[in-house]
Amino acid sequence: MNLPKLLVATRNIGKKREIRGLLGHLPTEIVFPDDIGIYESSVEVNLETESTFEANALKKAEYFQKKSRLPTVADDSGIEVLSLGGAPGVRSRRFALASPGQNEDEANNTELLRRLAGATPDRRGARYRSVAVFIKQLGAVPQVFEGSCHGRIATEPKGKGGFGYDPLFFSDDLQKTFGEATQQEKDGVSHRGRAFRALGKWLEENPL
Ligand code: IMP
Repeated sequence: MNLPKLLVATRNIGKKREIRGLLGHLPTEIVFPDDIGIYESSVEVNLETESTFEANALKKAEYFQKKSRLPTVADDSGIEVLSLGGAPGVRSRRFALASPGQNEDEANNTELLRRLAGATPDRRGARYRSVAVFIKQLGAVPQVFEGSCHGRIATEPKGKGGFGYDPLFFSDDLQKTFGEATQQEKDGVSHRGRAFRALGKWLEENPL
């Protein structure tokens, strides 16, 4: 039986793994851009230049829906540190401006620790946010799903799980870093878990 396809518009390996798990129960075939011949191109950097997660996610969803003509979901996400005025926020991926060949996640984590050097626990409060925008077809009203989770930035990385800032994000819910959590534990409380469970519920009620 041919299941309807859902394009998940991300090239981030960590996000792909999580979203596949979070939407895996739906009667859809989840595909990523490379799977359907949409390879990375230089125009994609212009899809993440807006000042809000929602505007970036909308731009990505519109771009990939147009290219694929498939129902498409894009997520824009990041971490906001309250004492840094919400930084790195929408700039989370390129916070450290890693040079080519450098490990982006490692460079970002080093930069975050540098910015918070000597900061007391009350100045280390942070939240992850994820905004997922789903567009079924050209011209359809975009559906928006959001999730967030709270914690603080640890003084050193802990754990090898997850991706990105996870070894530094000490979760209020789990009382350990996302780097130390299993995938199932992270999904249960994470920003992306919350946003994509809401999308999954909506898709159960509005099948493709
Ligand atoms: P995006 O691809 O523009 O949404 O960038 C997301 C960036 O935010 C990633 O490259 C990570 O640096 C960070 N980020 C978002 N979600 C997570 C997460 O669940 N764990 C760790 N880092 C995350």
